[in-house]
Amino acid sequence: YKDLQSIDSNLGTTAYHGAGKAKELIGDALKSRVEAIDQDTCGVGEEDAFFVGDLGEVYRQHLRWKKNLGRVKPHYAVKCNPDPQVLRLLSELGTGFDCASKTEIEQVLKMGIDPSRIIYAQPCKTKSYVRYAAQAGVKQMTFDNADELYKTKQLFPDAELFLRILTDDSASLCRLSQKFGASLDTTAELLELAKTLELNVVGVAFHVGSGASDPKAFVKAVQDARFVFDQAADLGFNMHTLDVGGGFTGDQSFEPMAAVLSASLDAYFPPQVRIIGEPGRYYVATAFTIACHVIARRTVADATLGTTSYMLYLNDGVYGNFSSIIFDHQHPVPRVLKCGDDVLYDTGRSGYDTPSMIEYSIWGPTCDGIDVISSSCAFPETVNCGDWLYFEDMGAYTKCSATRFNGFSDTHDVVYVCSEPGASALLGL
Ligand code: PLP
Repeated sequence: YKDLQSIDSNLGTTAYHGAGKAKELIGDALKSRVEAIDQDTCGVGEEDAFFVGDLGEVYRQHLRWKKNLGRVKPHYAVKCNPDPQVLRLLSELGTGFDCASKTEIEQVLKMGIDPSRIIYAQPCKTKSYVRYAAQAGVKQMTFDNADELYKTKQLFPDAELFLRILTDDSASLCRLSQKFGASLDTTAELLELAKTLELNVVGVAFHVGSGASDPKAFVKAVQDARFVFDQAADLGFNMHTLDVGGGFTGDQSFEPMAAVLSASLDAYFPPQVRIIGEPGRYYVATAFTIACHVIARRTVADATLGTTSYMLYLNDGVYGNFSSIIFDHQHPVPRVLKCGDDVLYDTGRSGYDTPSMIEYSIWGPTCDGIDVISSSCAFPETVNCGDWLYFEDMGAYTKCSATRFNGFSDTHDVVYVCSEPGASALLGL
């Protein structure tokens, strides 16, 4: 992270502590909260699952973005995690926002953000939402079909439209192209219709699928976008912006992916073309850790094998913040946070290779059998009812898609920490 320091000082801040401090801060926050809860006397729901969110991690991801994708102005995809403090920090950092509904647009506007920083990136919009966007002055929006053009003509003829094109999303975690995107054999027709309707098409948008893993998908999409820019120029449009969507993961594949994308952007689009992106998970996935309480335990003795394993029931599951297992194809990794009186955060793992591992399966609190977080995992510790587990990397597509099934709460506390002084300074923390 050392090389991010110069960007940090460009942002007007100087101190840079890096990721090392994050673990300590997150651990302290988890420990002090669980140690304050007495499950035998606490009020209803006081032992509910909770998040620890590290705003410093979001800040670091922003610096990393600037370093590797300096030409692409990020418009954070609010859908991924509309956490108010994350939005506030990103607003201070000067990003734009990708909104997909009236509520998301409203949440961002209420923070005092100028409508020109928002793109309504949903090619198939609700009519009343389009009226709302028009009245709020959110002009940038995507489309990918003729009906949407007629709708825009009727409700918001001044909109600044981005034609979303189809991509090869076969190497992504969550595929989007079966639902959205105009194929290249329809783009000429759509642009001609837009011309006839006297609509203002200002750019091309694409999304290579959420959790993309093949940089070649970006190369092909950039080439296709160039083709559509040229088609538009032939029809007299003056396209000025390319939107490269989201799809970026925050792991070590980001740098090579960003290098390939940057090179194709430079090869196909001159510097005067504005480039924006819509990253979601990239910014937040690693910034949130969740702690869950073990509310029940069932012992499973196998007389034939002579083994004992345990089923642990937590107070959060796939109908709650672990919705990412179903919707986002994730496999959250359980770790022991508190076992009896011992707090094992970040230390419990050392014994994982010992021969005395105990087998567990981890379940959510609802009555449904589908509500399983992990069908098999192992800890060296004997975990009991009343202990706590934690899961890292729970920031993307988790709490935003939690339900209230079985009457469980769909909102959970977030304890905020900030491992970067630069971010604390921006937020006045
Ligand atoms: N933009 C659009 C239009 C999307 O549909 C999505 C996710 O579904 C995103 C951006 C965010 O994608 P990601 O979280 O992969 O960056």
